[in-house]
Amino acid sequence: MRAENFSGDLHSLFPRLEQAELFRDVPLSSLRFFLDRCAEQRFVAGQVILSPDIHNERMYLVLDGNVSVHLGDSQSAPIAELGPGECMGEMSVFDGKNPSAWVVATTDCQTLVIERDTLWAMINFSHGVARNLLYLLSRRIRSGNLSMVVVQKERDQQQEVANQDGLTGLQNRRWLDALVLRLRGRALEEFAPLSLIMLDVDHFKSFNDRFGHAAGDMVLKTVAQCLRNSVRPQDRVARYGGEEFLVLLPNTPRQAAMQIAERLRARVEAAEAMDGEFALPRVTISLGVVHWTQGCIIEQLVLRADEALYQAKKNGRNCIVEAE
Ligand code: GH3
Ligand code: MG
Ligand code: MG
Repeated sequence: MRAENFSGDLHSLFPRLEQAELFRDVPLSSLRFFLDRCAEQRFVAGQVILSPDIHNERMYLVLDGNVSVHLGDSQSAPIAELGPGECMGEMSVFDGKNPSAWVVATTDCQTLVIERDTLWAMINFSHGVARNLLYLLSRRIRSGNLSMVVVQKERDQQQEVANQDGLTGLQNRRWLDALVLRLRGRALEEFAPLSLIMLDVDHFKSFNDRFGHAAGDMVLKTVAQCLRNSVRPQDRVARYGGEEFLVLLPNTPRQAAMQIAERLRARVEAAEAMDGEFALPRVTISLGVVHWTQGCIIEQLVLRADEALYQAKKNGRNCIVEAE
């Protein structure tokens, strides 16, 4: 769409231009020479004014109507709404690059078009205009930073949900796999002494068979709560599989880890899961404990804990076996 030069009635726009942030505390009469070189352009509702796909050499000042700013694509949820007195397109005028966002007219709009050369000439001529532009750009950067913070927070929340087991609220296998990936090939010395417990509910299949899957779920929740309440804040409890859990104990020497394992065993044995007002039969767990030694990588640690757990099952269950 072609921009129309103002035909003598620029003066009638002065009240609106005086409200524009670009001209704050700048006498418009001093800019007459530059304003005469500006033009008017109208957009209809829904029309794309700026797009990252189209080179832009102009700054637009909204005189009337509203526009919305979109990242991603012009149909995405707007990140900002701009109204009369506000500007758009200035960034691409300054750095010569395509616009960083889509700007779409949300209503029919009237704009003042300031071509690149005219804007630079205005900046060179008027400290007031330059100062106002600095102010405007700082605000843009600040709001950009703020939306990044919001996006990051949302991402963190989604990540948290994805890493959480729906039934027990503990960290899940996905979290564990990511942790193993992070720790892979890394010296675990920084967490040393490090211990790890793998534990599994005894005869859980027959519990399910006798009392039903829903009752089994209650038991798993109770076991999870019991485990979480029995370790320190720096320890991590994750649901490794169906009725198998992993407890990571950083800065925990052998003796302390064995004491924690015994505490977990005893507390689960004593815990009562409730089905409404009725207490369900108690369950026991078997545990395998492993301690980090120089040169041992995380996968080996998990494997050795699993082997120790298997041995605990063989030893009759409801007991602890320390890995070799
Ligand atoms: P063991 O003492 O050797 O561990 O015997 P087990 O019966 O506990 O072991 P097995 O691996 O044979 O069975 C595990 C059972 O755990 C089978 C499965 O139905 C149950 N289970 C796994 N996940 C869930 C769950 O989310 N809820 C319920 N209720 N049961 C589950
Ligand atoms: Mg089991
Ligand atoms: Mg199992």
